[in-house]
Amino acid sequence: MSLSKFHGGSSSSSTTACAACKYQRKKCTEHCILARYFPQEKQNQFLNAHKLFGVSNITKFIKGVEECQRDIAMNNLIFHANARARDPVWGVCKIMLDLKHQIACTQAELNLVHHQNLAMCQTIALQQQFGCYSYGDLLEQGDEYLNIDGHVHQK
Ligand SMILES: [Zn+2]
Repeated sequence: MSLSKFHGGSSSSSTTACAACKYQRKKCTEHCILARYFPQEKQNQFLNAHKLFGVSNITKFIKGVEECQRDIAMNNLIFHANARARDPVWGVCKIMLDLKHQIACTQAELNLVHHQNLAMCQTIALQQQFGCYSYGDLLEQGDEYLNIDGHVHQK
C-alpha cells in the first residue's frame, strides 16, 4: 500500500486537518509529520495507533526514524495497531501463527507431491528398464514377443 496518495493535492492538505491534529484540536500545517499517515478519512486508523502507542510516542518515534524509512516504519506501526484493535489478545501474533500454520500445511502438501512424483519416476524408470509400458502391454503380446531388433518371434 502506498501512503503517498494520502498527501493528495497540495490544496487540500493545508485546509483540512489530519486525523491526529483534529483529535488534538491543533492546527494542521503543511509541515505536520503525521498528516501523511493519518489523513482525515483515516480517523479509525489514527485512533487505533493512538490507543496502542499514544500520539506523543508516535510523533517521537517517527522523528527518530530516517526520512527514507518512515513509510515502512509507519506502515508497520499502523499494521500493529490495527491488528491489536481487531484482536486485543493476540494482535499480530495471531496473523503470524496463521501464516506459520499455512506454511506448514503447504510444506506438507509439497512433500507429498514430491514423494508421489518420485514414486511415479521410479515406476517409469522400472518400466523402461524392462522394455514395457504396462502390464496390459505384456498381456496383449500373448505368445509373440518383440526382439531387440524389432522382429516378431513366436515362442
Ligand atoms: Zn496534522
